[in-house]
Parts: sequence; structure tokens; C-alpha cells
Amino acid sequence: MTETLRNPISPTVDFERDGVQHGFLRLPYSRDDSAWGAVMIPISVVKNGAGPTALFTGGNHGDEYEGPLALSKLAGSLDPTAIRGRLIIVPFMNAPAVWAGTRTSPIDRGNLNRSFPGRPDGTVTQKIADYFQRTLLPMADLVLDIHSGGKTLDFLPFAACHLLPDPAQQARCEAGMRAFAAPYCMRMLEQDAQGLYDTAAEALGKVFVTTELGGGGTLSARSLAIAERGVRNLLIHFDMLEGEPQRGESVMLDMPDDGCYLCSESDGLLEMCRDLGETVQAGELVARVHDARRTGVAPVEYRARRAGLISARHFPGRVQSGDTLAVIAEVVG
Ligand SMILES: [Zn+2]
Repeated sequence: MTETLRNPISPTVDFERDGVQHGFLRLPYSRDDSAWGAVMIPISVVKNGAGPTALFTGGNHGDEYEGPLALSKLAGSLDPTAIRGRLIIVPFMNAPAVWAGTRTSPIDRGNLNRSFPGRPDGTVTQKIADYFQRTLLPMADLVLDIHSGGKTLDFLPFAACHLLPDPAQQARCEAGMRAFAAPYCMRMLEQDAQGLYDTAAEALGKVFVTTELGGGGTLSARSLAIAERGVRNLLIHFDMLEGEPQRGESVMLDMPDDGCYLCSESDGLLEMCRDLGETVQAGELVARVHDARRTGVAPVEYRARRAGLISARHFPGRVQSGDTLAVIAEVVG
């Protein structure tokens, strides 16, 4: 029999204690500037008696800001007596990446959202994944992971869920997605579901909601307001917080197949011909990529492979072969 390895992370909070606690997940990390040092990942636990457990995270990628700010503000403002059950908040999930302002960890280049289920004896990023996989996710009934586009993508603000094999779980996730009440709701198709936190949470049968709320490596007053409204709405939806949800009109979007993705096959300067939120027909010009090494060369044209709404775009002005130029989703209601 192989012995199960213990994860080296130790929490400074007691998950069973009522009230508000602000502490850390302490992850030992021995290095040049701290021989017996640790990575201190902030965590807040708000608990009030029996009830469901919600696990809210931001900073899974370190260059996305709506989640970290909305959740640290929530952690600092919640009155524990207003909560039913337990809310676990980790606003800076891949904390080293958040501190560096990069998608992946500067310690090991680990992309936390491609590292699940993780390893207790792996890299720093793999250890964080393993702690979520085996300790935090099993405690949770409802899981929210707030993303946006980071430095290289920009999105229409949407809450999302995936198509799941279990229709009952799918319905619970969709209800959560709608309750978040972002301006758009997306039934999302992943190009690369292996290793996602999403996939890990869904495989454990959890209600899982994710978002893409903007991008470009920053946030706006509007995108942050959507996140702050969404987290409260979700707690109210789960009967964990008193109050009236703030609803608005949400446009339902679907990514039915791979034809939604428009991928660059060239390097150069990006000319977007259509903007986020615009509707295009199949075959319509969406972007051109211009050669920046010489003049007199025709740009490479990229045309929509399907009709729909431009829901994501490459953000920087320079583009490389293999970059996602745009995502065109179908409007379903
Ligand atoms: Zn992300």
C-alpha cells in the first residue's frame, strides 16, 4: 500500500470556528533569501453556524484583478452574523503570481489553472493545487473562481459554466451562473480542460461558477462592480446571505464548437476590424495581421468561422502565431 503524502501547507485559520478570521495558508518554501521561509497565501474564513460552505477564489492567474479586489473587499466587510454557513475566501490563489503581476508563478512558471490535481511533493504551484484539490474543494458545496483576460486577452464581462455529464449538476451550475448576474452568461467550451481547477471542482460534483470579466491586465470601475455584485448575488442565491439580489439583463451566449476560436497563424501587428460586443456573420473580416519586418506585403486576413458575437479578443497590439485572436460566441437568448 502506498502511503498518501501529506500536503505541506498549514492553515493559520480554524475552518470550524465561528466568526471572521483573516490568516494564511503557510506553504514552506526554502530559498536563497529565506532558508526556512514560506509563501504566505492570504485566506479569510467567515462562519456562522451550520449551513453550506462556499469557496470563493481570485488570483488563480496573477494578472487578473477583479477577483482579488472584489474578494479582498468582501473579506474585509462581511459581518459574520449576516452569513449562514461558511465562506472561505482566497483572493490571491496563486499569490506569488499576483505579487509579480504575471499569469504564472515567478517561482516555477507554474500556471495554477493547468496544474490540477497537483502534487503534495511537487513545485510550489503544484502544492497549492494539491491543497485545493484534497483539502479545500472537498469542504465546499459552492465554488466560484473569478477570472478575467489578463495581459493578453480582453473579454465581454460574463459568468460561465461548462457542459457537464450530469444534467442535475449542470442545472445547479447554470442557476449559479445566472444568479451572478453578469451582463453576459456563457456556456463555455474549453480548448484545454485538462488540469483546470474548473474540471477538478466539477469532477467532485460541486456547483462551480467561473467568470471572465474584462482583461488587458487591469480592471475598470464597471468590471469590478460586476464582480462585487456577483459575489453577493451568489451568496444570496445560496441562501447564505440575507438581502435582495441585484439583477440586470443578461445575454446568454454559447460556444457550441471549436469554430468559435479564431487563431493567428502569423506574427505581426494586430488590426482589429471589429470590436468586442459586435455581431459578425460567417466569413466576415474580423482582424488583419500586418508584417512589421517589411513594407509592401499584404496583411493576413482572419475571417469569422461562424456567425456570432465577438466575446473575446487578443489584447496587445502585437500578435504571435498561435495566439487566440478572437472568440465568436453564439447568442442564444
Ligand atoms: Zn484566468
